[in-house]
Amino acid sequence: MHLDNMLAFNKDFVNQEKYESLRTDNIPNKRTVIFTCMDTRLTELLPKALDITNGDVKMVKNAGAILRDPFDSIMKSILVAIHELKAEQVMVIGHHDCGMSHTDPEAFKQGLLDKGISEETLNTLTHSGIDLENEFSGFDSVENSVEESVSVVRNHPLLPSYVTVHGLVIDPATGKLDLVTRG
Ligand SMILES: [Zn+2]
Repeated sequence: MHLDNMLAFNKDFVNQEKYESLRTDNIPNKRTVIFTCMDTRLTELLPKALDITNGDVKMVKNAGAILRDPFDSIMKSILVAIHELKAEQVMVIGHHDCGMSHTDPEAFKQGLLDKGISEETLNTLTHSGIDLENEFSGFDSVENSVEESVSVVRNHPLLPSYVTVHGLVIDPATGKLDLVTRG
């Protein structure tokens, strides 16, 4: 969808006050932060499958729901949701058939080259200490990956003791949830 089409749609949306039924504030009604994957199949399916509507949860996403660094932007967002926005529960939700499962570092590198990124640029990054293979690596088992993400949150020094952290996997076709670990 072209930007101009989106802007035209947006104008109608606002003019016709379609936002009225979505009005809420910034405190999550369900006192929950969900950290999940950016997969397009989950955009509408995940909230519907979990009975989530506007205002219910803080939603944080990245490619693969992968959290490994305790001070990256994902963990900071989760901490802000807890300390400033009253969240008391964290749900890490990976999904089956994720694009970050079984990633092929060689194919990823070839994709960069095919899109016009030069070999020289890649070499410069490598020499600057950036390990592209590691930076864009995914996972083999979504359950294990969810466990790892959950572990980073649970063991965080700034996590209050009253916060529960759960790990789950969702089916991107049916919305069925399987529990990996309960907090
Ligand atoms: Zn995914």
